[in-house]
Amino acid sequence: MVEVVIAGGGVSGLYFAYRLLSAVPDVKATVVDPKPYHEFLIGVPMAFGGLVEFDQLKFPFSSMGRIRHVQSEVVEVAEDGGFKLADGSVLRGDYNVLAVGSVRLGPETYFTVDGAKALYEKVKSAKAVRFIVDETYPVIGFQEIAIAVKSLWRSKEVSIHMVYVHPDYRWLFELHSHLFREFGIPITDEPPASYSPGELLVTVPSTVLHPLARGLALGPLFETQYPNTYLIGESSLIKLRLPPLGWGAIWQASLLASAIASEIRGGYAEVEADEWTALNDPDRFKQYFTLRMSKGIPLVALRGLYELWRSKVVGTLSGSA
Ligand SMILES: Cc1cc2nc3c(=O)[nH]c(=O)nc-3n(C[C@H](O)[C@H](O)[C@H](O)COP(=O)(O)OP(=O)(O)OC[C@H]3O[C@@H](n4cnc5c(N)ncnc54)[C@H](O)[C@@H]3O)c2cc1C
Repeated sequence: MVEVVIAGGGVSGLYFAYRLLSAVPDVKATVVDPKPYHEFLIGVPMAFGGLVEFDQLKFPFSSMGRIRHVQSEVVEVAEDGGFKLADGSVLRGDYNVLAVGSVRLGPETYFTVDGAKALYEKVKSAKAVRFIVDETYPVIGFQEIAIAVKSLWRSKEVSIHMVYVHPDYRWLFELHSHLFREFGIPITDEPPASYSPGELLVTVPSTVLHPLARGLALGPLFETQYPNTYLIGESSLIKLRLPPLGWGAIWQASLLASAIASEIRGGYAEVEADEWTALNDPDRFKQYFTLRMSKGIPLVALRGLYELWRSKVVGTLSGSA
């Protein structure tokens, strides 16, 4: 039986496991993650908008019977392939996929479910919420949270202060500009004027490369210089000079899963052109994602995306789909 080791059970790691196990059911998949549960971070704005409970965004690995979870941290990528764990042991499969995301730096932690829940508590009692962006690569999601807050509490003042952001990243916020106007969320290049009581200032954190991804080369199919070891997810996207987003992480995960599945079945990796359009994409989750990215639909409005993740991705790994 083919063995696959996945370091990181976040959005890209779990989606990769789901796609591979859907294509080749008798693969033995191991996921290494220090947390006991997977976090569906893309659903955080839906929780802000009241469409799901924050805790419903956490899916325990123990309920996913089709994968083996090793609760540990990868500390090094081994030169002969595979991953060295915190206890000094090495996990090596026929394929090894590094999907540890990026590192997020800053005082706010809305990029974890618990951090987002803590921010929600502060937002509840605030009179005004001001998101301050002064980063090259700001952690995505604050703009969705801003829309969720304004849709839930129309009387709260919500504003976005784009003091600095890398020019390559601006289009992402422009995608939402019609929504900001519709919801009455001013967006400006200036920092907030002066602090007044009841205002909540949210400093948007920064995204940087995960230390494990430093020094890794990246080939066209996300292969590194180490045997049978691949890099997908936010750090891979940063290396490719693409915005580190869930959308891209999911594209990489499905491309790699289909290449590995065809290699397992036929002995060679075959990759189909992936155009990112709703019509050409056979997977409903990716279709949904592509549609909302291209049309600027706020995530807070898409509970269906959460339902698909819960029933298709987690459901398949749990053996219930
Ligand atoms: C509020 C919010 C809204 C968002 N909205 C959107 C959106 O509208 N569109 C979009 O495209 N994207 C969105 N995103 C971004 C999206 O969630 C991320 O891009 C996506 O989660 C990245 O997937 P990933 O697998 O690279 O990393 P993650 O999902 O962060 O997963 C990384 C995993 O690796 C584990 N890990 C870390 N270090 C180690 C280690 N040393 N050893 C083992 N495991 C480790 C972590 O515990 C984690 O489980 C949003 C994010 C947030 C927070």
